[in-house]
Amino acid sequence: MTLQCWGRPEVTCGLDLFNHLTRLRLGLSHLSEHLYTHNIIDSLLCNNCGLENESTAHYLLRCPLYTTERDVFLSDLLNVLDGDYIRNLRDNDIVNLFLYGNSEFPHQSNLLLNKMAQTYIMDSKRFQGRAYH
Ligand SMILES: [Zn+2]
Repeated sequence: MTLQCWGRPEVTCGLDLFNHLTRLRLGLSHLSEHLYTHNIIDSLLCNNCGLENESTAHYLLRCPLYTTERDVFLSDLLNVLDGDYIRNLRDNDIVNLFLYGNSEFPHQSNLLLNKMAQTYIMDSKRFQGRAYH
């Protein structure tokens, strides 16, 4: 099954994006931290930068390989949420918004957060064509 990606008529995507977000939520993605936890690889370090363990927070907020995608995500976050609210968020809060949205937000805001997460995953290309990396 192929879906047209939101706001990007030139791009089509399969259900992979949904699968990747679900895998991140479950700790079953191809991030090093998840693979290590399940004894599939022997190092937690990020293979892209080697600066720290490749956790979801590292992938979303700190890995230098995804600076451009992160800037888009954080800029879009300012369009969805109040600036004062965002300034008080800790890294873990942002990761939780990325993965789950917030049940206290309006449905439309959560839809936008979900689309932003899917866009980050797609644009980062982190999970494309990689088995266990
Ligand atoms: Zn990294």
